[in-house]
Amino acid sequence: MKTIIEPFRIKSVEPIYFNTVEERKLILENAFYNPFLIRSKDVLIDLLTDSGTSAMSSSQWAGIMHGDESYAGSPSFFRFEETIQEITGMPLVIPTHQGRASEKILFSILGGKGKYFLSNTLFDTTRANIEFSGAEGIDLICEEGKHPAIPAPFKGNMDLVALKQIIKEKGAENIPLCIITVTNNSGGGQPVSMQNIRAVRTICSENNIPVFIDACRFAENSYFIKLREEGYNNKPVFEIARELFSYADGCTMSAKKDAFANIGGFLAMRNEELALKCRNLLVITEGFPTYGGLAGRDLEAIAIGLREVMEENYLQYRIRSIEYLANKLIAAGVPIMQPAGGHAVYLDAKKFLAHIPVAQYPGQALVGALYLHGGIRSVEIGSLMFGKYDDNKQLIPAQLELVRLAIPRRVYTQSHIDYVAEVVIEVFNARDKIKGLSIVEEAAVLRHFTAKLQQL
Ligand SMILES: *Cc1c(COP(=O)(O)O)cnc(C)c1O
Repeated sequence: MKTIIEPFRIKSVEPIYFNTVEERKLILENAFYNPFLIRSKDVLIDLLTDSGTSAMSSSQWAGIMHGDESYAGSPSFFRFEETIQEITGMPLVIPTHQGRASEKILFSILGGKGKYFLSNTLFDTTRANIEFSGAEGIDLICEEGKHPAIPAPFKGNMDLVALKQIIKEKGAENIPLCIITVTNNSGGGQPVSMQNIRAVRTICSENNIPVFIDACRFAENSYFIKLREEGYNNKPVFEIARELFSYADGCTMSAKKDAFANIGGFLAMRNEELALKCRNLLVITEGFPTYGGLAGRDLEAIAIGLREVMEENYLQYRIRSIEYLANKLIAAGVPIMQPAGGHAVYLDAKKFLAHIPVAQYPGQALVGALYLHGGIRSVEIGSLMFGKYDDNKQLIPAQLELVRLAIPRRVYTQSHIDYVAEVVIEVFNARDKIKGLSIVEEAAVLRHFTAKLQQL
């Protein structure tokens, strides 16, 4: 088989600014070992997130010029609405400025003290919005999903036995929603199978619990279903996505992921009463229902992006380019989550830095080392992001200590990725020298964004 090439040409470029290890040492110290506090011009390869960092296509940029900025009833909104209705089959579409705005609205309405939200794994902002409402989020990832080193086709699946048990234990009346995150961002970008989604739907229907999809990476998940699940090999991704959404009562979406947009999001659903409540909140917090928190031009870019993301040449390249990086690391013995996810490669920091105890945040230490050595910015998805304290102020660690190398869509070429592999492997070979970290300052929620740390 020939090399799978990037299915695009480059029309506009942005420079990368180079710096030295000595300069980066100072930058890292001044940023308190927190990649969110580093300026992007000081980063060579930015793998902090795939969110809002995609390269838009020439069609999307053309759409930006077509955007109609009318306050109410803009044709751009109707193109946005129609596209989402077509893909999701959900009639009620509510634009928001990004994913978490959808979450804030949804959980303000459905959340509250004594409520439980069940999920394969809640993303950090989703969990934060649930907890902010006073409710509790419960992750029920399948057993395969808990073991980074063991490959399995659908490690994002929900544990169905645990789901039934928790419903019995907490009472269906206290569970306003079950949320399936596709792909499972916090759990390694791993896909959820159609069979699992269908089974969750059945269990939830028996208990009168609505199902929502956290749809940020619906196209990547649909492509994995096409590749890995029996009966889907010959189906177009659009049809697979349609089926996936058909099992849900609604969805939340960040258009900064699988819509190639730099900003945007939406809520879509089937229930009129819930949509009415959402729109009432939307007007207070985001804007009028035909623009949400967005400009008309953003609505256009999203509508176009949502169609482009389902093109199979793109998805083949996308999934393959992540796998390409993963394979290079596996060949060098670097411990990573296997198989490769849809949007990122996840380093297993617990194994990578076995000499650093979990309470010294090995993931964050690794993030620092990758930046220092090669100017690569990544993010910890472990105990800094998800850790809690018990009553004695002792850390209750997260299930996994991962470092995510998120690959922006259509942004980096194969030689950029080759460079990333070289840096990770060099850091791995000198891992004994990396030291743990302690927290100097932190916020009560989403602490990883602003926490200040120091080297031990
Ligand atoms: C990014 C993301 C969100 C939140 O979306 P924002 O646009 O960043 O607010 C929610 N869920 C998942 C799975 C995500 O990846």
